[in-house]
Amino acid sequence: MDWLSELPNLGELPGPVLAHGRGRSYGDCCSNNGGTLLDTLGLDRLMHMDSHSGRLHCEAGVTLDAILQLAIPAGWFLPVTPGTQFVTVGGAIANDVHGKNHHRAGSFGSHVRCLELLRSDGERVLCSPDQNVDLFRATIGGLGLTGLILWVELQLKSVPGPWIDCEQIRFRRLQEFFELSADSDRTHEYTVAWLDCISPGEKLGRGIFLRGNHCAGPGAGRLPYLEKPCLPRSEMASSFEAPEILINRSTVRLFNNFYFHAPLRDFTRRTISYEKFFYPLDRVAGWNRLYGRRGFLQYQFVVPYEKRGVIEEILRLIESSRLVCTLSVLKVFGEVRSPGRLSFPRPGVTLALDFPIQGQATFDLCERFDEKVRASGGAVYPAKDARMSAASFHSYFPDLGEFSRLQDPHFSSDFWRRVSGPAAASRRAARAAAGGH
Ligand SMILES: Cc1cc2nc3c(=O)[nH]c(=O)nc-3n(C[C@H](O)[C@H](O)[C@H](O)COP(=O)(O)OP(=O)(O)OC[C@H]3O[C@@H](n4cnc5c(N)ncnc54)[C@H](O)[C@@H]3O)c2cc1C
Repeated sequence: MDWLSELPNLGELPGPVLAHGRGRSYGDCCSNNGGTLLDTLGLDRLMHMDSHSGRLHCEAGVTLDAILQLAIPAGWFLPVTPGTQFVTVGGAIANDVHGKNHHRAGSFGSHVRCLELLRSDGERVLCSPDQNVDLFRATIGGLGLTGLILWVELQLKSVPGPWIDCEQIRFRRLQEFFELSADSDRTHEYTVAWLDCISPGEKLGRGIFLRGNHCAGPGAGRLPYLEKPCLPRSEMASSFEAPEILINRSTVRLFNNFYFHAPLRDFTRRTISYEKFFYPLDRVAGWNRLYGRRGFLQYQFVVPYEKRGVIEEILRLIESSRLVCTLSVLKVFGEVRSPGRLSFPRPGVTLALDFPIQGQATFDLCERFDEKVRASGGAVYPAKDARMSAASFHSYFPDLGEFSRLQDPHFSSDFWRRVSGPAAASRRAARAAAGGH
C-alpha cells in the first residue's frame, strides 16, 4: 500500500483482511492466516507539523522514530510512547498503547484529534472525539478490526529537549514500590519499575524504581545532534539465535542479582538521552533471538488498585512453578480514561512478565494467572497475547457487544477468530450474508 490516491478496493481483496504495521505486537493480533495482510509501511508521509501548536498530521504507516526525528528539534515529543519507537502510528492506535506516563497522560488514543478510516465498502470516514464518535471510540484500541486507518492528526507535547532527568531507586519489598509510586506520580512525568521475580524468599518483589522528567540537558537551549536509532532498519529477526540453555533459573538469578546491585547507591540520579530512557531494547538488535528456537511469551495484565494483592499472589505462583521469568515490569496506571471501547489501559496496577516457553507448563501457569486476573475484574493485554480464551476475553472487555456492531465485517485477525467465539462468528456471518457493512 502506497499513495493515499491508489487505495485498493478492500471489499474485493480475498478476505478476511487486516492492516499490518511493524509487526511489533507480541501476539497474533497482527497476523491473519488464510486472509490478506495490508502492508501499511508505504503510508509513511509526515504531511504537516504546526510547530506552534504541536499538531502533527501524518499517514498511519509513519513510525514513532520518524516522528521523533522531526519533532524533537522543534521542541516537541510524543504524548505517549511504548517501550519501542519502531511501531507505526496505526499500530499504536489499534492497540491504544501506553507508556511510563500513563498516570499523567493516559494512553496514545487520548491524544488523537482526528483520523480517517477506510472501510471495506469503500467509504472513507472522518472520526474524532466530536465526529463519528462511536466509530472513533471503536477504532482506538480496536485491534485493527474497524477498517484501515489512513492518516491521523496527533497532538504532540512540548519538551525542553531530548534529555531526561532520570532517577533510580532500589526497593526491597512490593509495599515500598507502591509508596514510591504514589509519591513519584505527583512529582515525575514518567514512572515504572523493574521487578525481580525469580529470587527466592525475602528477595521476591524487590526491584529498581525508575522515574524521570524531560529536561534541557547538556547545552541547554541547543538541541544536540540526534543519534540514529540503534536497531537496523532490517527487522529484528536478522541476528543470531542463542542456545536455549543460556536462559535458565541460575543465569537469570545471577543477572537479577547483578542488576539489582548495579547502581552504586540506593538512589542515583543522572541525565540521559530519551532513547536510553524509553527504548533500552531498541539498542539490542535481535534481543528476541536470545530465547532460541522455543521463543518466549509475554503476559501483561492490569488489576484494580485495591486488588493489588494479586501482584504478590502471581509472584508466588511463579515461584512455586519453578519456571523462568526473565523480565518483569511493574507500573501503576492513572485515572485518565481512554476513549477506546476495547482499550486495555485502565486505572490499576499493571505487570508485564516475559517467560521463555517451557512447553505446556508455561501455558498452564498463564491459565492460573488468568483465573486471578478474571476474579479481580482485571484484564490481559491483547497486544501481548496469543493464547487467551474467548471466555477470558469477554470477561476482560465487557463492552464487546457495542464494539462488534461497529467492526468492519471484512476485517479479522488470528487473535479475533480465537477470542470472538462461535456466537460472535455466526452473528458476523449473518450480517455479511445480509450485505451489511
Ligand atoms: C520492545 C517492545 C516494547 C513494547 N512496549 C510497549 C509498551 O510499553 N506499551 C505498549 O502499550 N505496548 C508495547 N509494545 C507493543 C507495541 O507497542 C504494540 O504491539 C504496537 O501496536 C505495535 O505496533 P505495530 O506498528 O508494530 O503494529 P502491528 O503489530 O503490525 O499491528 C498491531 C495492530 O495494529 C493494527 N494496525 C496496524 N496498522 C493499522 C492501520 N493503519 N489501520 C488499522 N489498524 C492497524 C493491526 O491490524 C494490529 O491489530 C512493545 C513492543 C515491543 C516489541
